[in-house]
Amino acid sequence: MSLLDVRKLNVIFDSNRGVTHAVKDVSFTMEAGEILGIVGESGSGKSATSLAIMGLLPSTASYYGELLFDGHDFVKMSFEELRQFKGDEVSMIFQEPMVSLNPLIRVGKQVEEMLTLHVNEPEHQNDPRLSKAERKAKVLEMFEQVELPEPEVTYKKFPHELSGGQQQRVMIAMALIGNPQLLIADEPTTALDADVQDQIIDLLIQLNKKRGTAIIFVSHDLSVIRKLCQNVLVMYHGEIVERGTVEEIFENPRDPYTKKLIAAISDERKEARPIDTENVLEVK
Ligand code: ADP
Ligand code: MG
Repeated sequence: MSLLDVRKLNVIFDSNRGVTHAVKDVSFTMEAGEILGIVGESGSGKSATSLAIMGLLPSTASYYGELLFDGHDFVKMSFEELRQFKGDEVSMIFQEPMVSLNPLIRVGKQVEEMLTLHVNEPEHQNDPRLSKAERKAKVLEMFEQVELPEPEVTYKKFPHELSGGQQQRVMIAMALIGNPQLLIADEPTTALDADVQDQIIDLLIQLNKKRGTAIIFVSHDLSVIRKLCQNVLVMYHGEIVERGTVEEIFENPRDPYTKKLIAAISDERKEARPIDTENVLEVK
């Protein structure tokens, strides 16, 4: 049995702007511990797919199909059953950490809060209530794992006192502290500088290896997907137009849209001129 089995998922938005069939008959499976990329241009239905899996679609959206997580159908579950799964087994991070973080609460407290909601680790199954000190220790350990500097100091900081990359690390800590089986990361590096983007990707690869968390990584940028994913789905206008391993997609793209995405990466490379002098800038 696959960890996630999405069968003929459809998402339809019905707002005053009209009706949009955002996701059309999307089917895919993923295994425990896998890193799956979903790539496609803006508006192709990547977020709608992610939000449907998380049960976070707005009330203007309706969806149908099957969403089997570990054999349980999310679409058929009651609200209470869903609440158990979402957050415990599946969690999500978004492009803009500042939208998800509360500006008025210290980040350590915000991550700690997750522990009072979700305690999923086997050693705590009989005792879901950790002491205050135990919770704090867990947060500091998690901050260590996501490589936040000086965990004790960071714990006491407010979101605005952190850099964009550090805020994203806090979000990752928050998403992973309940030890979910699946993390959905929707363009988590898009708002970051290229260097910081690479650091976050390295971190996700490490966490995937260390904790075995499966990851759905959503991006409009195929070059980012190439760095961390094993398998890729290419979405266009709400449909999956191509799927395969990263190697297959890059070496032998069949769909014209995939070819266009790959060509766009090569163009960017061409534009980066090699520098022939030793120092670009020297300040004395
Ligand atoms: P992506 O994440 O790939 O950029 P989305 O899943 O956000 O794309 O959007 C897919 C389609 O659904 C787009 O046509 C978009 O305009 C539409 N859409 C997304 N969110 C809403 C919404 N809340 N109300 C109405 N239409 C929406
Ligand atoms: Mg999106």
